[in-house]
Amino acid sequence: MKVARIIKTKEPLKIEDIATPKPAGEQVLVKVESAGVCHSDLHLWEGGYAGPQGVFMKVEDRGVKFPLTPGHEVAGSIVEVGDKVSGYKKGEKVLVYPWIGCGVCPACKAGEENVCDAPRSLGVYQDGGYGEYALVPSYRYLVRLDNLDPSAAASLACSGLTAFTAVKKAQVKDGETMVIIGAGGLGLMAVQIAKAITKARVAIVDIDDKKLAEATRLGADVVVNSGAGDPVQNVKGLTNGLGAEAVIDFVNNAKTAPNSFNMLRKRGRMVMVGLFGGSMELNLPLIPLRAFTLTGAYTGKYADLVELVEIAKKGKIQSVVSRRFKLDEVNAALEELKGGKIIGRAVINP
Ligand SMILES: [Zn+2]
Ligand SMILES: [Zn+2]
Repeated sequence: MKVARIIKTKEPLKIEDIATPKPAGEQVLVKVESAGVCHSDLHLWEGGYAGPQGVFMKVEDRGVKFPLTPGHEVAGSIVEVGDKVSGYKKGEKVLVYPWIGCGVCPACKAGEENVCDAPRSLGVYQDGGYGEYALVPSYRYLVRLDNLDPSAAASLACSGLTAFTAVKKAQVKDGETMVIIGAGGLGLMAVQIAKAITKARVAIVDIDDKKLAEATRLGADVVVNSGAGDPVQNVKGLTNGLGAEAVIDFVNNAKTAPNSFNMLRKRGRMVMVGLFGGSMELNLPLIPLRAFTLTGAYTGKYADLVELVEIAKKGKIQSVVSRRFKLDEVNAALEELKGGKIIGRAVINP
């Protein structure tokens, strides 16, 4: 089978022809129909993230090893199953839950493998979906797609699940105000999820009017252009000067994070999601005095992916696939994503 691999960071991915794995035990071999191209694939390819004071946080220091077949948004059909697989059969369309954990740490025992102490995520710590086939370690990581289109469903495993987790962590009650920072793929997905599962007023902040118009189309109640006036004052203006009950920052860089913090009402919750890098200074007395909660959200748990796929089956959320690439065009796909040329999602259809 053909796979696209990162041999060395910052160098073009290489197409290799390797033996197609044979599933054993609980393993399942999935024919990849669609593999989403995600920003975190770019971080892998570039070798890391921007940390505080320009320090580069290397993925290799976090246990990533090369060569690696990336791709953690994998949807396709089952072609072969191991002898201990139950409940799934050949030909079924599935989405793969990629955030696989060690199975024994406290997070894994609580069903939150995405925050495992020793993660083994597909496409990050072990080979993923940039290939004709993907070997899934257990049928327990599959989610049935039924009639959902695999290309549209692929990103639910990452950006969709991340947005879902973030909206849940914001814990908004009916009528409260939830501010979403960034109207990129994650922010737009969060708007739809927030409208589907909460009765909060959803405000979204971005600098791009086109993206804000898209957010309105998808159900955002209020849009705030951060290029036209101070976004903190604008959000306060929406909330009688008090601030929002929850802010989800999908950018989370040195510029947006302090604004997000300053938009919070007393008892407010700030959910940090974006990996754009940098650091912020915290006004420490404000955290106790205003009883803020600051929390991070990283992807999500298997049970939530199952729930999210059900919401998608009801037609309540849509992910926009704007670009399709063949496997041997993988480098062009990553370059386009890096250049900010992709609106919505790009997928590889091997
Ligand atoms: Zn991703
Ligand atoms: Zn674990």
